[in-house]
Amino acid sequence: MKFKVNNVSRSPELNRFAGELTDKIRSNGNILAGSDESTDFVLNLIDMDSPKAYRRKRQEEMVISVALLREPVPDLKSACYAALVKSISNMLFCITMTDGSAYPGACSITPEVGFILFDYEPDTIYKYMYPVISSHFVLRNRLSDDLSLRENEIIPEVQDLIIFGKELHKLGVLPAPFPLTEFLDKDLTDQLYRLYQIKGLSYGNLSIRNVTCKTGGTSYWMTARGVDKSNLKGIGKDILLVKGYDRESGEMLVSLPASYDPRIRVSVDAIEHYLIYREFPETGAIVHLHAWMDDILYTTQSYPCGTSELAENVVGLLKKSPAPASTQVGLKNHGITITGPDIRDIFQRITGRLRTSVPMMI
Ligand SMILES: [Zn+2]
Repeated sequence: MKFKVNNVSRSPELNRFAGELTDKIRSNGNILAGSDESTDFVLNLIDMDSPKAYRRKRQEEMVISVALLREPVPDLKSACYAALVKSISNMLFCITMTDGSAYPGACSITPEVGFILFDYEPDTIYKYMYPVISSHFVLRNRLSDDLSLRENEIIPEVQDLIIFGKELHKLGVLPAPFPLTEFLDKDLTDQLYRLYQIKGLSYGNLSIRNVTCKTGGTSYWMTARGVDKSNLKGIGKDILLVKGYDRESGEMLVSLPASYDPRIRVSVDAIEHYLIYREFPETGAIVHLHAWMDDILYTTQSYPCGTSELAENVVGLLKKSPAPASTQVGLKNHGITITGPDIRDIFQRITGRLRTSVPMMI
């Protein structure tokens, strides 16, 4: 893979750490690109108190930010999450030298709020960044206004998504949509919108296999990107029909009524749901949550949401389950994906069994 270093930090110490990390990345076979070459990932050196975003050349470019913390902060996880969002990074490493020790500590955080603390070692940092820099997003949608239903028309699948979105809220596993504008100025919000087409961060999603509309392939109704699942409105607003996936162009194919908000996009996990419905025909519904359940199989790597690698990993785990269409699997340091013959079955199985905090595993 090709990478570059974007150095906007004022810290000579951070430059020293960045030199070590660059050597480690190169020793693993990656190539430091020339300034005008396109890259697979960027090492973005930032200051924790004024994190700057690297302006990506393309959506697929992964940004790994690295910061240095000299003074202790009251809540390291929140400070790192704020720096991650403000620098629009896919992952952030913070090297900590706050206890006067000669041996620095480190932590990493992802947009899925996978947060781990460890001793600083270039080897360990490379090991944690590898799943991110080596994975591929499937975030693009191809929107077609070919849906035979009207905007807001109520069909059984849509009715159930509205009902069970509210149930998720009652179970306490639905963080309110995170208002990006509180963290980001207009320029950064616009940048983020152009890149990922998100207007807010809202974790979790639901989908139900489509039976009402004839599409001739694997199709399902799913919640849109960055919407409040506890207050879903309907078709064309925040519930979409996914009618397929174009592997060539890497686009999810979305069917919409004649009138719709052109900025609407399906949840970033649409590729995961698509592969599950296609692989396991008895699956009638899928729920993804940032919560946990005991005694589940879980992935060994922390791939980002919305990547084909995460989707394929989840399908691989489901294949190992005795009943793939009616089970739950874990996404390491991230959450769970639950399958069922229908959405009611899923909620009967998870109610009273969910842990609202995700255990962090090294
Ligand atoms: Zn997720």
